[in-house]
Amino acid sequence: MFLGYTAATTAAALIGPTIGSWAESFVDTPQAGWYDKPMRWAQIGFAEDDPGNYDPQFWLDYFKRLHVEAVTLNAGGAVAFYPTQVPFHYRSKWLGNMDTFGDLQKSCRALGMVVVARTDAHACHQDVYDAHPDWIMVDANGNKVRHPSDKDFWLTCALGPYNFEFMTAVQEEVMTKYMVDGIFTNRWAGSGMCYCEHCQKNFRDVSSMDLPRTRNPQDPARRQYIVWRQQRLFELWRLWNSRIQHINPNASYIANAGGGALSELDMKTVGELAPTLFADRQGRSGLMPPWANGKNGKEYRATMGRKAIVGIFSMGLEDKYRWKDSVQSDDEIRLWVADGIAHDLRPWFTKFDCKVIDSRWMPVVEDLYKWHAANSTYLRNERSLARVGLVYSQQTATYYGGDDARAKVEDPSLGFYQALVEARIPFEMVHDQLLDPDHIRQFRTLILPNIAALSTAQCKQLEDFVEGGGSLVATYETSLYNEWGVRQQNFGLASLFGVNYAGKVEGPMLNSYLSLNKDPSSGQYHALLKDFDNAVRIINGANQVAVTPFGEGLYPLQVVDTYPDLPMEEVFPRKDAPRGQPGAIVRQAGKGRVVYLPGDIDRTFWETLNFDQARLLRNAVLWATDEPAPLSVVGKGVLDVSVWTQKNSMTAHLVNLTNPMMMKGPIREIIPITAQQVKLQIPAGRRVKQVQLLVAGTKIHYTNEEGVLHLEVPSIALHEVVAVDFA
Ligand SMILES: [Zn+2]
Repeated sequence: MFLGYTAATTAAALIGPTIGSWAESFVDTPQAGWYDKPMRWAQIGFAEDDPGNYDPQFWLDYFKRLHVEAVTLNAGGAVAFYPTQVPFHYRSKWLGNMDTFGDLQKSCRALGMVVVARTDAHACHQDVYDAHPDWIMVDANGNKVRHPSDKDFWLTCALGPYNFEFMTAVQEEVMTKYMVDGIFTNRWAGSGMCYCEHCQKNFRDVSSMDLPRTRNPQDPARRQYIVWRQQRLFELWRLWNSRIQHINPNASYIANAGGGALSELDMKTVGELAPTLFADRQGRSGLMPPWANGKNGKEYRATMGRKAIVGIFSMGLEDKYRWKDSVQSDDEIRLWVADGIAHDLRPWFTKFDCKVIDSRWMPVVEDLYKWHAANSTYLRNERSLARVGLVYSQQTATYYGGDDARAKVEDPSLGFYQALVEARIPFEMVHDQLLDPDHIRQFRTLILPNIAALSTAQCKQLEDFVEGGGSLVATYETSLYNEWGVRQQNFGLASLFGVNYAGKVEGPMLNSYLSLNKDPSSGQYHALLKDFDNAVRIINGANQVAVTPFGEGLYPLQVVDTYPDLPMEEVFPRKDAPRGQPGAIVRQAGKGRVVYLPGDIDRTFWETLNFDQARLLRNAVLWATDEPAPLSVVGKGVLDVSVWTQKNSMTAHLVNLTNPMMMKGPIREIIPITAQQVKLQIPAGRRVKQVQLLVAGTKIHYTNEEGVLHLEVPSIALHEVVAVDFA
């Protein structure tokens, strides 16, 4: 729908090879270049007054003790820490004749480390404003935008000559002078929508429209803008990468980019462009469980495949007040990092300012890194053995969710995520643009948590998946919209769900329930209702799609028509009320199984954490999957689990999230849990040599019953890794 991109200044930059597709990255041959080598990263960010005022040897000693294998150091952009010749490239006032960046990168390379230069593209000084007023970001009212935090700076336009010309010159100069291994640019994608003269003209040239003044994704100009902005940023990415590689073929441009459904740049393209990627999620704030860090790893991996993904964490507080110069509690840092490691994020600590004010974090990170280095072989994962995939969809968030994407799209996904963690089901995340057989073959079950916007082609891929023996669990408005977020006459997946859309979506509903139906043939509850033995009914979601069932299917849950929730005297179900629609449809389709829940059970669960809904979501996945799990862990507590193979071993990670501060950090202390019974399926053709616990540091007794290991992990403080060595 978007044709004729011909912006004259930059068309050449569109041409350029991509670095390797996701599917290729699953090939068992080593990736070219340095990208897969470093396991532990460090970033110390020079503050403007660091030149001459910090102790480089202090940091070099720390890096050595921690077995750091790669560093990222501030080079330039907003503030240059080397003697730049690029006009208007602002030098630190403390730099004098020094080369602070150059000296430290040299010392790091002498220690054998990979060195990535960091540049920052989002802010410039008054002299730039005076000479190139058109480089500055302009808001919707036509005003140039000052930096909200530091009034000496102006915000820059990401899509015009500031990035395409000035920052290109900076990247080229850094690479020419230092031949570093890569350049990582922070805040390179703009600080919000820009209405500068370049953005106006470039957008009009390709769309014949003015820049949108609305955020409604169904507005034609807004929709076009969303596509155009991404094209422009990917063009910039390719431009910087090609200029860098022209100077140093062994280096790359690495954008600070990526994420889940709410992230703005298409992750499929990001996965094709990036040789490695850094998940910049420095800690938790607000309502956020610790598994959010593992989720970052899963979201990136969905399009990065086997390429190395690094998780940036900060010892500073990740809060809206940005106390980046203070430190988090020891155990909060440990928890966040452990959950990332369990989901294959390689750790990267970031420290703002090289003069240490509060050093309490340093021994904590040192311990983590030393353990990581000692167990590196078992952390160099080749693949996840998870059989369940939780789909995420940027197009659903962008075009269906719009400004409500967090509530309508992310919350259902978070609800399902929480339910899977509670159920201790190992799972990965799956990008909705990668539903081809190569990318989903490893999964038995795909979960679609209100993946509302799906194209005909995507629905066909899901039908083929089920036809071939895959299973689906879907909720609420899944497939009721096309890929542009436009409501359709019926579900794209109606034939799998066994229901038609009955023309309305109800909600928010108060006091809505699902009654439990016994199977008429057996007189028993269906497996979907496992552990509901004494229940007669459970709560419904707060919203539901009206549906008309057809064809073969079972309906273990039925909606009870709503009745008043007040006054108290009127809170009773009406006997003469008609029986409502099915609250769940479970069916066999092809060789696979399908569970469709018309209610927004997953979203409501994220809001309420209701125990029945946790069971219902768990049961739906277990029934659909219908096979022994690759990893099962029985015991008390909340554990985030994952299961991996490496070259000559396999591991099961068990991260203990049990804590009164689980849903809102920071935790005060780690609270150990009692013994866990672990069952682990050994991949076919592998023979077990020994089993160890990598945190306890002990070998452990186990039994092997026809390829299934049984063992007991006596206690877990924060994190345990069961490592199985193959003969
Ligand atoms: Zn602009």
